[in-house]
Amino acid sequence: MSLTEAQRRVLDAVRPLEPVRVGLWDAHGLALAEPVVASEDVPPFRNSAMDGYAVRSEDTRGAPVELRVVGDLPAGHAPTVPVTGGTAVRIMTGAPLPEGADAVVRVEDTEPLGDRVRILTEVAPGTAVRPAGGDVAEGTLVFEAGTRLRSLHLGVLATLGVTSPTVRRRPRVGIMSTGDEVQPPEVSVLRPGWIRDANRPLLHGLLAELEVEIHDFGIVPDQPALLRSSLARAAERCDLVITSGGVSMGDYDVVKQVVTDVGDVELWRIAIQPAKPFAFGELAGVPFFGLPGNPVSVFVAFEQLVRPAVLAMMGSTRLFRPQVVGVLDEAIDTDPAKTVFVRVATTYRERTFHARSTGSQFSNVLSATALADAFAVVPVGVSRVDEGEEVVLEMFGWPESRTREEVLRG
Ligand code: AMP
Ligand code: MG
Repeated sequence: MSLTEAQRRVLDAVRPLEPVRVGLWDAHGLALAEPVVASEDVPPFRNSAMDGYAVRSEDTRGAPVELRVVGDLPAGHAPTVPVTGGTAVRIMTGAPLPEGADAVVRVEDTEPLGDRVRILTEVAPGTAVRPAGGDVAEGTLVFEAGTRLRSLHLGVLATLGVTSPTVRRRPRVGIMSTGDEVQPPEVSVLRPGWIRDANRPLLHGLLAELEVEIHDFGIVPDQPALLRSSLARAAERCDLVITSGGVSMGDYDVVKQVVTDVGDVELWRIAIQPAKPFAFGELAGVPFFGLPGNPVSVFVAFEQLVRPAVLAMMGSTRLFRPQVVGVLDEAIDTDPAKTVFVRVATTYRERTFHARSTGSQFSNVLSATALADAFAVVPVGVSRVDEGEEVVLEMFGWPESRTREEVLRG
């Protein structure tokens, strides 16, 4: 199965979660379920962009000129006196422009003279004035549904008085490692055959970045009965369940046996490297992702298949990481039968991204992957990319930017 086909099937199988209203302080990382339309102007009133003097611009013609100072207006206070011919009001940044004034002369262009001020430069109407609605005008569509709220969006919502946006609720995601050999990372002495669990900390971090609610179901040994009950518990409590290990061809790959037995789950062999074996389907109505055991495969499968699905459940329009074109600083050989995700470190020099492999590309070598910041994506049909040749770089440290349509067209 091609990667695109696998991504299409996964995205076809998941649905956005219900809309809920959440407090602004809890909304970070969640996607809007409805568009946000401004119900008022931002800024709400015409105000000064500078510390200086509010004037009638026509009075500054032929500057230097002297004006009588009739008021002093800090931010947060309403004007009490208008600006009439021959007068000015001392004004601070953010204070509302008094009636009659149509410009502000910045303080640097003035000289105080007791109860008068000398204006040293002419100003045009509108100078240093921020109009009401100049940031956002009432009635404007500010953010579309499907916008995932980040810090900047939250700041804008606050200025609009949107304190409980309608978003898709935070998914509850269950994670579980499987394998008789897999032990908690805390284990101090490894007996023969044991290894420490890399996949749960890895998945936990990847999910924390998505700001979902993480439910950790621990490590389950390769025993069908135990696995069955852990999976049942996870499916009951979560909106989505992710396991690692046990989906390849071996006799002890019990995840494969159990999930195809208790759920509506298929085993796929996806034409990618790493992360070829992959199980996907439903357990008790909940999407299930059976990832391979090798940690690098877990990472690649998560990035390519799980992450877009979680974002789709969160109602985000943007599901996939951005890709840029770069050049390889050293040749790489890949399997032409698969889309290969080569782990590379990028540098930006002379207006070009450069990429270099971070080391062993075996799917168990997580340390080399941890030094990378991008995948060099080598498509099916290509067996070698030479030094200096262009390659697509998928920047897995960057937030999602590509939509379903952009990725799955064709
Ligand atoms: P499996 O698909 O279960 O045969 O696992 C493939 C490889 O990944 C084996 O070498 C496992 O020991 C290893 N593996 C499985 N789960 C984990 C884990 N949670 N952390 C680190 N390595 C693992
Ligand atoms: Mg196993």
